Amino acid sequence: MSADRYAVLGHPIKHSKSPRIHQIFAEQTGQNLSYSAQEVMPEHFQDAVTKFFAQGGKGLNCTVPLKELAWAFAAQKTPRAQLSKAVNTLKLEQDGSILGDNTDGIGLVTDLTLNHDITLADKRVLILGAGGASRGIIGPLLEQKPATLVIANRTIDKALGLAEEFQTIAPVAGCGFAELTGQQFDLILNATSASLSSELPPLPPALLAENGVCYDLAYGNEPTPFVRWGRDQHAIKSLDGLGMLVEQAAEAFFIWRGVRPETQAVIALLNSERTGTPP
Ligand code: NDP
Repeated sequence: MSADRYAVLGHPIKHSKSPRIHQIFAEQTGQNLSYSAQEVMPEHFQDAVTKFFAQGGKGLNCTVPLKELAWAFAAQKTPRAQLSKAVNTLKLEQDGSILGDNTDGIGLVTDLTLNHDITLADKRVLILGAGGASRGIIGPLLEQKPATLVIANRTIDKALGLAEEFQTIAPVAGCGFAELTGQQFDLILNATSASLSSELPPLPPALLAENGVCYDLAYGNEPTPFVRWGRDQHAIKSLDGLGMLVEQAAEAFFIWRGVRPETQAVIALLNSERTGTPP
């Protein structure tokens, strides 16, 4: 029997570790599938997804900068995808419809709480960035009952708009980076794509509270600029998003195949292959 086809779409995509991760999950669980990476610009998204499913593809992951487009594409959405207005997982259903889900939030929360033993309850949490990734993580973060949640973004209106959308669940504040001066947070999450171009958002001094944690959703062979910033700020942990990547992939795999892969060995393997000093 031919292997079921899956893929990740995004731009840029060539350094994606998702094909490797899903191949390992498939071997581990005995699932017959293939998983490729396809470079897709936003203007070609609709055509690329339509063609993929028309040619028998079973499921897609969508990454930067396609998650909001994937949300608009999915005819059916899970409640968490509906809430976030961003989709990173598309699944062909039995009736031929396309289901959209978002596994970023559960991937992040699993990595923070289970893999790194970080509690979020009563913590002051700051999210940098207001794009597709931020949309996916806000709901699951709020479920952990932080004391406060602030979203800061370069384009201030996007932070304000996003904060407004989630007000029905819990108080969320939005602002620009300059307005962070004088505030302190126990957990700072970098959900901007600044690290992809080796940049760091402009952050004021003393932003991280004593015993605070920094977490960059981006990841790389070398520590990202934000992970290095966290170390400079004496974070007790300054982590990158490799663990989140594996955990969100495991959740997507479960949605597609109904089997939950084991993640620890995969995280350890990918960490061991980094050429730089891992976070
Ligand atoms: P989007 O393109 O949807 O959003 C990008 C965000 O980054 C916007 O808020 C944008 O601000 C901001 N930004 C971009 N460049 C800069 C800069 N130089 N300085 C400050 N802010 C900047 O991307 P996503 O939300 O989908 O992804 C964001 C990051 O999260 C990426 O690095 C991605 O790799 C990572 N990610 C990791 C995952 C994992 O599993 N580890 C899962 C999902 C995402 P503005 O609105 O002003 O343009």
